[in-house]
Amino acid sequence: MQEYKLLIDGKWIDSSTNESFDDINPTTLEKIATIQIAADIDIDQAVNTAWEAFGAWSETPPPGRAQILFKAARILEEKKEELAKLLTEEMGKVISEARGDIQEAIDITLYAAGEGRRMFGETTTSELKNKFCMTVLRPIGVVGMITPWNFPMAIPAWKVMPALVAGNTIVMKPASDTPLLTIKMVEVLMEAGLPPGVINLVFGPGVSVGQAIVHHPGIRAISFTGSLETGKQIMGECAKSMKRVSLEMGGKNPIIVMDDADIDLAVDGVIWGAFGTTGQRCTAASKVIIHEKVEHEFTDKLLTRTRTLKLGDGLHAKTDIGPVINQAQLDKIAKYARIGQDEGATLLTGGNIANPGLDGYFFEPTIFTDVDPDMRIAQDEIFGPVVSLITVSDLDEAIEVANNTIYGLSSSIYTRDIASGFKAIEKIEAGVTYVNSSTIGAEAHLPFGGVKGTGNGFREAGPEAIKEFTEIKAVYFDYSGKLQKAQID
Ligand code: NAP
Repeated sequence: MQEYKLLIDGKWIDSSTNESFDDINPTTLEKIATIQIAADIDIDQAVNTAWEAFGAWSETPPPGRAQILFKAARILEEKKEELAKLLTEEMGKVISEARGDIQEAIDITLYAAGEGRRMFGETTTSELKNKFCMTVLRPIGVVGMITPWNFPMAIPAWKVMPALVAGNTIVMKPASDTPLLTIKMVEVLMEAGLPPGVINLVFGPGVSVGQAIVHHPGIRAISFTGSLETGKQIMGECAKSMKRVSLEMGGKNPIIVMDDADIDLAVDGVIWGAFGTTGQRCTAASKVIIHEKVEHEFTDKLLTRTRTLKLGDGLHAKTDIGPVINQAQLDKIAKYARIGQDEGATLLTGGNIANPGLDGYFFEPTIFTDVDPDMRIAQDEIFGPVVSLITVSDLDEAIEVANNTIYGLSSSIYTRDIASGFKAIEKIEAGVTYVNSSTIGAEAHLPFGGVKGTGNGFREAGPEAIKEFTEIKAVYFDYSGKLQKAQID
């Protein structure tokens, strides 16, 4: 079994703690790697190295930086199958979704590389004669990145690739449950020619290593994806040092099923949204809001389909649902299954820890009906294969229930009525709305992120991703040869 050290200045070096943790396969509970834990002194070294690399990297023209990304995308494509298998072993998602995770990393790498020739500012007129005005984008400097485990390669890639093409250097801490896929992604970038020190990897618990990154005075900005609780804490700490921080956090994502919906299509969307990735997506559909006229038809069909889902090892092509990530997550989901029953919801199916003949962390796909919108199962992000069905009598009530959450990431409506579709787009408080498809399926060229408790105004992917990792500078170029005073002359 391989032991991974810290990556600093392009070299794998021993950490100063002499401590390490195990990377565990959640399907079998076998160890797949050992990972060294960084000390504060190692993080200092990583930050210093990143600043040393910043000079040359930020002066490299963006199309030159992009060439490395284009090459990295080609290598990722060549290694896609091997990486997908490793991703299933490390994180548990089924192999088709693991391929999707790698593909998303490839897509964002190519997209960000394309941005290397589109680092556009704006030009505009001046209020004075013989004066030219424009804006230019500048890199921020050394950026700290902290990522979650549910998209072990795609989410790190969403941050790393735009940040690199924009000229930043990076100190990164991946989730302790899934460090290996970030390591593999960075190995590919190095193989593609990324200079030493441009990305530095440190590992260890969020509460120590993550916090050391957040507090480090040499880090100019933090890019974080994870839970609302952690995000709030990080934002509070960044406020104290006036550190720029972009946050992508949780969701309680609704699917509305109207009385004119294609019910079979809606059932497909709920199965995919609620149980895909074992419900462990920030965009998972955990709240289904059904028009009373189609409640029975929809619920019967959903139940029938759910009962056919097969739990097991994600490497087997016939498996529909893999394990959840760890014991703490399994316990949390089991706790919510009890809370739902205690609150008075009806448990239609599931609700138990499952045993598909493997040692890992499996939970039955679970459906609650008779759910009141204020129940905890309809409010809290459970992050597991649990979905709550809520009945409403019209679209206005459906939208009210959809918006009855502290989060605002993804949302969906199934309807054949154009007006209902557009009303949902207008009224649902979310960063993403789908019409007639599930809550999941972000594409690399569109902005991704949420409102309310899901984010703090930034977006990842799409053209917005460059904004996350650049500062904008206004430039006034005076060729009049005399002192000109704005607002006065
Ligand atoms: P998490 O517990 O908040 O952890 C996320 C990352 O933060 C991990 O690397 C973690 O390190 C680190 N961390 C934990 N406590 C920290 C602290 N006090 N200071 C600094 N870093 C700290 O979240 P998670 O359980 O990994 O991920 C699930 C959450 O992510 C869900 O809420 C999900 O909705 C959200 N998510 C959001 C998006 C989005 O784009 N909006 C995408 C995916 C996931 P350790 O791993 O060592 O604990």
